[in-house]
Amino acid sequence: MRAHNQRTLISKPFPPLDPGESMDEINVAAAARRLGISEPAARKMITAGRLPNRAHTGPALVASADVDRVMRERRAEALRRHPDTEGFARQVRELLWPSERIDYVRLMDGRREVADANQARHLSAQPHGRAVLRTLTPDAAAIFGWAAVDVAATPARAFTDMCRFCYADTTARVHGGLRPTDSPAYRVLLGCSPCPADRQRWATEAESGRRAMAALRQTDEFRAAQAGAEQAREAASVAVSRLRTAARVYAAVDPSSARLAGVQRAGVTASGGLPCGCTRDVYCDAHAAAFGTHDRRAARQ
Ligand SMILES: [Zn+2]
Ligand SMILES: [Zn+2]
Repeated sequence: MRAHNQRTLISKPFPPLDPGESMDEINVAAAARRLGISEPAARKMITAGRLPNRAHTGPALVASADVDRVMRERRAEALRRHPDTEGFARQVRELLWPSERIDYVRLMDGRREVADANQARHLSAQPHGRAVLRTLTPDAAAIFGWAAVDVAATPARAFTDMCRFCYADTTARVHGGLRPTDSPAYRVLLGCSPCPADRQRWATEAESGRRAMAALRQTDEFRAAQAGAEQAREAASVAVSRLRTAARVYAAVDPSSARLAGVQRAGVTASGGLPCGCTRDVYCDAHAAAFGTHDRRAARQ
C-alpha cells in the first residue's frame, strides 16, 4: 500500500519490491541475505524466537530492526571467538587465496621466482576463491559482513575497474549488511587499500554522524531513551531501519530492478560477473543506480 502511494508521488517508476520487502518488515530470504546466512539458518532463528515472526498469517516476516539487532549480536559473539580481527582477516584471506602464501625470491635482475616449487605447486592446487565460501566459518561474514567476504572471495580480475572497498560498501548499502570500515583487518581481507573516495565518504559520514548525534541530544526522545525508556529506544531503531530500507529502495530507482529484491548470491562467472548480477561489462540495476551508469566497460577506461 505504502509502495503504491509512493509510486504515484515520484515521477520515476518505483522499483517493484519483493512482497516481503516493505518499509520495515522483510521476508526470510531478504533477512538471510542481509545476515549472510542460509535461508534454513534464518528459519531456525525464527523458530527459536531469536528473530520474531511479525506475520499473523502466511509466509514469515521479520522486522528490519530485529535483523539489525541479530546482526550486531552475531558480530559480538563472533568477535569473542576472534578478538584479533586482523589476524582473523589474514586467516580468512589465506583460506580464500592459498596461492598468496607462495614464497618468492628476488633475482639479481629484479625478477622474482618461486622459492620452493613443491610449495608453489601444493598451494596452487588448493581450492580457492568462491569455492571456499561454502566451507568458510560463518564468523567471517558475521564480523566483516557478507558483502566484504564476497568481494574478498571474488577474483581480482573482476575489479580492474573498481575499488574493492567501494564495491563492498555499495553492495552492503544496496542489499543490506555490514559495510567495510577503515581498519587494517579490511585491508588484509580485501587485499587492497581504500581509495580516496572511501576516505572522503568515511570523513563525511563521521561528520554527519557527529551532527546527527548533537541534534539527537536535543530531542525529547533522546532524553527519554537516556533515562532508560526502552520504548523510545525501540522507536529510534525502527526509524533508523526505515531510513535504511528507504535508502536502499531509492538507490535502486529503476523500472527494471525487479531482480534487486530477489537477487541471488550466484557464483562469480568466468566472465568476471559478480554475485549481485553485475557482469564484466554491465552493472546490475542496483549498482547502476549507485554509480550512475549501467556501462561498466566505460568505467574501466
Ligand atoms: Zn574505494
Ligand atoms: Zn552489482
